[in-house]
Amino acid sequence: MPSYDPKNIFAKILRGELPSYKVYEDDKAFAFLDIMPRAPGHALVLPKAPARNVFDVSPDDFAHVMGVAQRVAKAAMKAFEADGVTLQQFNEGAGGQVVFHLHVHVIPRKTGVAMKPPAAEKEKPEVLARNAKKLAAAIAAG
Ligand code: AMP
Repeated sequence: MPSYDPKNIFAKILRGELPSYKVYEDDKAFAFLDIMPRAPGHALVLPKAPARNVFDVSPDDFAHVMGVAQRVAKAAMKAFEADGVTLQQFNEGAGGQVVFHLHVHVIPRKTGVAMKPPAAEKEKPEVLARNAKKLAAAIAAG
């Protein structure tokens, strides 16, 4: 398996070199909105420590990220009046991974509404800003 590449786009976001619509941060994890959401409120949860995917992440960091994903999922149910939440996590190209810093997708779902295809459409900045504010508030309350 290739080694971790610190030039990947999520590493740049974690270092503050690129902007993101942040919804949560603690000492070991960071969460922000996907800019090409598969449904409104689609968020990504990352470990801060470098990890390419499930194959090299430490079990402690992976467990922490899943705990944060659970917290984000519960908040997303309230913030977006969702009927359910889909969690996804892809590993290597063959597993559907495109960005090579481990991340968990948290996608709020409405009954009968299909997810958009991956990376189908870039959401408007004002919509992302509004949704990030709503989700961050629900996480903080949660
Ligand atoms: P994957 O590696 O298959 O889980 O997909 C990477 C995800 O990152 C896709 O859902 C993209 O829409 C999303 N994405 C790519 N660039 C950015 C970015 N700058 N900010 C937020 N999300 C992004």
